[in-house]
Amino acid sequence: MINLEKIYKDAGAFLEGHFLLSSGKHSKYYLQSAKVLEDSKTAELLARELASSIKKSGIKIDLVCSPALGGVLAGYELARALGVRFIFAERVDGKMTIRRGFEVKKDEKVLICEDIITTGGSALEAGSEVERLGGCIVAFAALANRGFCKRVGSEKPSTPTCKLPNDVPFFALGDFEFDIYEPDNCPLCKDGSIAYKPGSRGN
Ligand code: ZN
Repeated sequence: MINLEKIYKDAGAFLEGHFLLSSGKHSKYYLQSAKVLEDSKTAELLARELASSIKKSGIKIDLVCSPALGGVLAGYELARALGVRFIFAERVDGKMTIRRGFEVKKDEKVLICEDIITTGGSALEAGSEVERLGGCIVAFAALANRGFCKRVGSEKPSTPTCKLPNDVPFFALGDFEFDIYEPDNCPLCKDGSIAYKPGSRGN
């Protein structure tokens, strides 16, 4: 059994501070999955575990697609573990787009893979682009779930914040549940510190 929290902590990927998230919200913690996936052996191990639960479900996958940049390493490893193709979607002028000659064939069964699913916004956007090209979204997957969306194997229901559709299964290796705050209601701001973007101080 995978101890996801230990893996993230051991890799220095479970950061504590005062973070400004891409959603505009603030958090005391940040998950830097790239630090976990820097170790290719760990990446392979995590992807195999995720692939195993997807295979057990009996869902057939033709293709994995990830939203760039965060989902690409996890998605590529997962595609390798599943023995299927991998493509990615990227933002062009703010819109999630599939470029680089990547193709989605009509009715291909596609899994959308992220490193972390928070509300699932980027995953859903990548999924819409795949569907526009004729693909069919049959599952979502991530290394970790932030606890807002219901994942396969967990009893905890989706919260209203979750953007993933209820009728498509979502696979993850575990949950990381911690609070995120609106900037005007952030206890860390009230204590006088300033939120910074993860990565902007070398992490
Ligand atoms: Zn704050």
